[in-house]
Amino acid sequence: MHTVLFLLAFVMTLQSSHAQFSIQLFEEYDSYKFTDISSRRFKHAELQTHIATLKKSLGDLMTMEQIGTSAEQRSINLLTLGTGTTKVFMWSQMHGDEPTATMALLDLLNYIALHRNSAEVKKILSETTLLIIPMLNPDGAERFQRRTSQGIDMNRDALRLQTPEAKLLKATRAKYNPEIGFNLHDQDPRYSVGEQGTVAVISLLAPAYNVEKSDNAVRTRAKQVASEVTLVLNQFAKENIAKYDDSFEPRAFGDNIQKWGTSVVLIESGGWKNDPEKMFIRKLNCVGLLASFLAIATKTYVKTGTKPYEDIPMNTKMFYDIIIQKATITFPDGRASIIADVAINREEVRDSSGTVWKGRIVDFGDLSVYYAHEVWNGEGKSLEASTVEMNDMVNVEDVKKILQ
Ligand SMILES: [Zn+2]
Repeated sequence: MHTVLFLLAFVMTLQSSHAQFSIQLFEEYDSYKFTDISSRRFKHAELQTHIATLKKSLGDLMTMEQIGTSAEQRSINLLTLGTGTTKVFMWSQMHGDEPTATMALLDLLNYIALHRNSAEVKKILSETTLLIIPMLNPDGAERFQRRTSQGIDMNRDALRLQTPEAKLLKATRAKYNPEIGFNLHDQDPRYSVGEQGTVAVISLLAPAYNVEKSDNAVRTRAKQVASEVTLVLNQFAKENIAKYDDSFEPRAFGDNIQKWGTSVVLIESGGWKNDPEKMFIRKLNCVGLLASFLAIATKTYVKTGTKPYEDIPMNTKMFYDIIIQKATITFPDGRASIIADVAINREEVRDSSGTVWKGRIVDFGDLSVYYAHEVWNGEGKSLEASTVEMNDMVNVEDVKKILQ
């Protein structure tokens, strides 16, 4: 009995110290954030400079090996830290326009450099070997596009392996046979969490390895790790964590890597109000990853179980940036006016002066089942139909003025 109580107390102490660790990571983020990078559109050459900077400060703690090149001969590198027996593999930016986690990886490397003597970092580096490929699709990053330079969505190339980048991912996994993997992506910033009307800041998935979506030891471990990430992130954005659709996709890497024996957790960076550069989401990635490395090093994630992950509401597509509610839409040609809601999403438009944000009319009519970052009351206000036509680009500030 006493032994049980003692063990229980021990486990609770461990868990609370882990919570403390993640809160500390969150609160002290600005002290270790890798500030050389501050916006999303960085390219391979810039990333290489940053990795060289970090290599200098990490010294012997990190090795860098070029494992191959992209179709356009950009280097793809594997960073290795730690000497532990539990191998933790992670890769970011398989889709070139999904850079949030790449920035977070730089932050966490900087954290390790600055805190190399802390008990937590020592534990992580003695119990795990971290294997990191930042920017798996450098050609896509060069163009800020999802696909590789050969036009392939790498995440549908896990079986045919037509792209050099996909071959490298598969070969690296096979070479190290890691116990755990993190597949790091960005998703549409306008997913919502279940029916609760909040935006999904991070979505998590322990991908299925078969059509039946069965559990085996590998997928269960992925769910346990995903639960650990959930508990960490719940401390900072409890209403904004969603679960990604777990339908089996036979051509995707997450699903196949789960099948090949590495417990994979997909982390999708979503959206956050007034954060178009996704800096808050970068921070959540960094804190979530570092805290889960400690949980993996101490194996506490096994005790966490799978329920926190299973309980997360599903990612749903019920969200817009702006909804104008119940505006009076007028037609100058004499058709009767109507009451309609108007949904506007902010989009990045590239022109000669760089990137500007514009609005696009993306839905129109009764939008009462949808949610938005900003809800503008249009009652009693008139909008001429031609100013809010479906798919048109609008200046958001101009529309706002009309409603005032
Ligand atoms: Zn992606």
